[in-house]
Amino acid sequence: MNSDSSDLPQAGPHGKKLTADELKRLEKVELHRHLEGSLRLSTLLELAPSVGIEVPKDFTAQAEKFLVTSQMKDLVSVLNKFWMTQSVLSSDEILTRITYEAIEDAYLEGIRILELRYSPTFIQKNHEHLSYQQIHQAIKRGVKLAEKMPIAVGLICILQRTLPLDVNERICHFAIDNKDSFIAIDLADDEDALPARDFEKIFLTAHRAGIPITIHGGESQSATAPQNVIDAIEILGAQRIGHGVQIVKNMQALNLVREKNIPLELCVTSNWLTHAVPSVGAHPFKKLIHAGILTTINSDDPGIFGIDLTHEYSLLQETHGFLLADFERCNDIAAQASFIPLIKRQKHWPRPIHKI
Ligand SMILES: [Zn+2]
Repeated sequence: MNSDSSDLPQAGPHGKKLTADELKRLEKVELHRHLEGSLRLSTLLELAPSVGIEVPKDFTAQAEKFLVTSQMKDLVSVLNKFWMTQSVLSSDEILTRITYEAIEDAYLEGIRILELRYSPTFIQKNHEHLSYQQIHQAIKRGVKLAEKMPIAVGLICILQRTLPLDVNERICHFAIDNKDSFIAIDLADDEDALPARDFEKIFLTAHRAGIPITIHGGESQSATAPQNVIDAIEILGAQRIGHGVQIVKNMQALNLVREKNIPLELCVTSNWLTHAVPSVGAHPFKKLIHAGILTTINSDDPGIFGIDLTHEYSLLQETHGFLLADFERCNDIAAQASFIPLIKRQKHWPRPIHKI
């Protein structure tokens, strides 16, 4: 199954620095990747004119218009880029295509276990001709088409904090109705405006239906962010946390995450771009590892950020001195923490997957 990695130079001592090619071919797990943020730039440029978006001729102007590659100055301009990408997601065929392409890209980055998350409400906005079920079936077709690739794929359903509770309740039931094809449920969007605890009832419903839970939290620089992690775990029943990087500033949150063995889905470039951390070098990744936290390496929105997962590995090697052993440890944690059924994960993972 992992034939393309069998000739990966064995690093011998785990202290050896990996070459760009070795980093690329290293088997990886991606737990935190948004489907809507994973569009290939080439696909986006091809589809943009069909929804009236003008495409500049030269690459620099294209990147400037569609990608977020430097620390955001204001939220509005970043959100505009997400909405431009979202506007092309207007048909079943396009959703199937971008899902297939996202999986193919992940496979080519060395990813062997991939969790892709999407928000039915985000995709449906201004595309009301698509029902949630149509959206889901189109995405599932993309996953099915990609089955020929040796990669385990699972879908996570995202609830949006910014939408009314009754809409989120409906999405929760939608996820429960499709729990044979959703591996988990998530809560995203502005954690400062709407704290995790407001969604207690909805996540209790998900929990009772047996759907695993991961929650975006502890990302923003605000003083309340670590409390969102505590609430996500204690009130919403989160088994993993998306980001959670700010727990490093709060002993109560840090201790809780460690004691409960809650893996963090860390996303270094994303945290830098959104000012969650002041610089890549200031990211507390190693601090969290040394504090005994279960950490994993993820890309969040690779299409919009113009990155891939290998880029994140390269950053961690160059800026934080990560070695092969660090990458393998993070990946084994992620392989264990994945919500994809074990038999499917193990089929594509080179090492035995144990329970955390
Ligand atoms: Zn995210």
